[in-house]
Amino acid sequence: MSLAQADILNALEKVKLPDGGSLAASGRMTGIVINDGKVICAIGIEAAEAGVMEPVRAAAEAAIRALPGVKQALVGLTADKAPSRGAAAPAPAGAAPQARATSKAASLPGVKHIIAVASGKGGVGKSTTSCNLALALAALGLKVGMLDADIYGPSQPRLFGLRGKPKLIGPRMLEPMERYGVKVMSIGFLVEEETAMIWRGPMVISAITQMLREVAWGELDVLVVDMPPGTGDAQLTMAQQTPLAGAVIVSTPQDLALIDARRGVAMFQKVDVPILGIVENMSSFCCPNCGHVSPIFGHGGARAEADKYHVPFLGEVPLDMQIRETSDDGRPIVASDPDGPRAQIYKDIAAKVWSGLSQGGTARAAPRIVIE
Ligand code: ADP
Repeated sequence: MSLAQADILNALEKVKLPDGGSLAASGRMTGIVINDGKVICAIGIEAAEAGVMEPVRAAAEAAIRALPGVKQALVGLTADKAPSRGAAAPAPAGAAPQARATSKAASLPGVKHIIAVASGKGGVGKSTTSCNLALALAALGLKVGMLDADIYGPSQPRLFGLRGKPKLIGPRMLEPMERYGVKVMSIGFLVEEETAMIWRGPMVISAITQMLREVAWGELDVLVVDMPPGTGDAQLTMAQQTPLAGAVIVSTPQDLALIDARRGVAMFQKVDVPILGIVENMSSFCCPNCGHVSPIFGHGGARAEADKYHVPFLGEVPLDMQIRETSDDGRPIVASDPDGPRAQIYKDIAAKVWSGLSQGGTARAAPRIVIE
């Protein structure tokens, strides 16, 4: 017998809310996904209810798990709207919102620093940069993990050359995969790409929170999070609900991408996550035949942008055939040619990121950015 949504809701009939009502009838259940005996869903809550709703979440998970045919059940709590925390100063007209909704997400035991790698839009090389940055941090002698939260296009399995499903250890915890000395978890290991594509914001956040907290990361110096591209509500809530020590923004030199990058910077500043810096990817073209380097997109834009907004500039990565080919082959350049010039670029970026983290984020005061 195959499982249907109705079976799940039936099972949740018996789960009671703090006011005595049934969870199934409350209309709080969102985005029930059933896939090969695996059930993922979320309970919509107000941010302030997180404490009282945790036993409800656990009971819901147990009730689903007890259904015949269910191999795994993951139930998350999700606050649809970003919770407003602390006093919000009134924003002047035209200014970015001032609510300092500082990330108060609980830290991850054993993980010293979590950093987000983000971009204002897709296709700028965020995943390639995240992967090589993680490997370069590992090359510095650090213990590193990679969480691929790019739910709409998870690339880390391909970049790291990893396939298969992570092992379940205990009722809830997953064991991360490991390659080139980096522990890797990706939504791509868990669900079909098309499944993730149809998830609404709260489901995305719930799935990412679970990948963060229900994976046996062990002791890590840095966990690199490859964020979903863009600066929408889902990304903002994620930035808020993840205990981030800092963010790296990846941009191409084109103007449009820089405007998007600026939004990325503003988004993290809004939730008080320090900007560790901007990386300019595909900054110039390195000819594979003659080695000549041409700034085909008018390079240097990201450096100027970083200066303008007083955030650190981390480095320039050229548009380079070897970087692309090795990425597509699952042999990222920092792992396959660790002593080469391209790996050195990523190692320099990693050293700056680590130094930023050691200083507690950006040393410079972050100014407020106004989005027109
Ligand atoms: P995003 O995560 O921003 O969507 P990806 O990292 O998946 O972008 O990169 C998009 C494409 O660009 C991939 O095919 C990747 O191999 C290629 N790419 C990324 N950075 C570089 C680079 N510096 N040189 C050459 N190709 C690159």
